[in-house]
Amino acid sequence: MSKPERLTILGATGSIGKSTLDVAARYPQKFHIYALCANRNWQALLQQAIQYHPEFVVMADESAAQQLREAIQEHKLNSEVLAGKDALEQVSAEADTVMAAIVGAAGLLPTLAAVKAGNKVLLANKESLVMAGSLFMDAVTQHEALLLPIDSEHNAIFQCLPENMSSLASAGIRKILLTGSGGPFRETPLADLSKVTVAQACAHPNWSMGQKISVDSATMMNKGLEYIEARWLFAARPEQIEVVLHPQSVIHSMVQYNDGSVLAQLGQPDMRTPIAHAMAWPERIESGVESLDFSQLGGLSFAAPDLQRFPCLGLAIEASKVGGSAAACLNAANEEAVEAFLMERIGFTDIAKINNEVLEQHSVIEVNSIDAVLAVDAQARQSAQQLIQALAS
Ligand code: NAD
Ligand code: MG
Repeated sequence: MSKPERLTILGATGSIGKSTLDVAARYPQKFHIYALCANRNWQALLQQAIQYHPEFVVMADESAAQQLREAIQEHKLNSEVLAGKDALEQVSAEADTVMAAIVGAAGLLPTLAAVKAGNKVLLANKESLVMAGSLFMDAVTQHEALLLPIDSEHNAIFQCLPENMSSLASAGIRKILLTGSGGPFRETPLADLSKVTVAQACAHPNWSMGQKISVDSATMMNKGLEYIEARWLFAARPEQIEVVLHPQSVIHSMVQYNDGSVLAQLGQPDMRTPIAHAMAWPERIESGVESLDFSQLGGLSFAAPDLQRFPCLGLAIEASKVGGSAAACLNAANEEAVEAFLMERIGFTDIAKINNEVLEQHSVIEVNSIDAVLAVDAQARQSAQQLIQALAS
């Protein structure tokens, strides 16, 4: 029997991180927990260290790392505590398999470190592809990394594509149908959207997720980021991807072939399914997710998305078509706007306003280096902060 894969989880304390541990713990002969990483919640990381005995626990935040170090000693655990961004990159490179599940732009460099080490990279952090898609995909090829999608839609598409496909067209594919539920405000009167609360925006009807992606789902920015992610992952032209509203979240996405066939992947809205799929690929393992019971399932419905209700979706599709630094700019503006909404500094509909304005102010450049991407990111955050301050005062 082969040795267990050394698994690093970036973002171990988050929604995806916890689901990954749940799957990995079912197969100790297959997965060895090498490193668990988080931002500053040392108490949550301590509990995971007690339960899973990783070789390393890494906190991005130095002072949180110090507290964790003391707690690890008190509990007489063997896990070594590391701190800071370089340490995230180190344990990401040293592993065999990396679950990239940090939220937001902070995930870019540690995820890229796993790619550059030629590792198996399970990609949940869609923001890294949105920011630096062309550089990221070049690095995957150059370093012969194995990139497997965790985002449920992209994982579904991957499952519906032929193996070893060289291009969508040569595989006889007409379109990728990217499904999305439309979130909690699919039917809210437009006039009420400016007054929705953080709790309402974070209460997704079908999925339980971290706060940032929950708000992105409510604005449908999430589907926009996923549109960009799908373009890079599957080398798709804009006309080869269509967003379809599907409120029940039973179909996780589809692929339409030239002969009229449509292949879909269906399942419970539980991220352990795509996580288990990618972790074991090309094998199949138990994920702990119940089978769909078709006798209990109501109808499945579909509609086109309304871009007036979901302007962020339109902005993301536009940024993807423009190319260059546009998507990195939009991503950064959105992170700042969502954070300000979560802090109750701005209203829900201000998120789209800020995103739109920052994108309009931005002069698009070609992105030839990660430094250039990070500079665009910083500039867009600054522009967004100015707008937030004006709105909040
Ligand atoms: P979450 O908020 O629940 O967890 C985020 C994790 O990232 C935490 O462990 C946190 O400690 C860590 N983190 C945050 N900032 C960090 C930093 N600066 N340095 C190091 N670590 C940091 O988020 P989530 O819902 O698990 O989402 C994680 C990623 O997966 C996002 O990119 C999201 O878009 C993607 N994703 C999530 C889901 C889902 O169902 N939750 C589905 C598809 C894709
Ligand atoms: Mg998704």
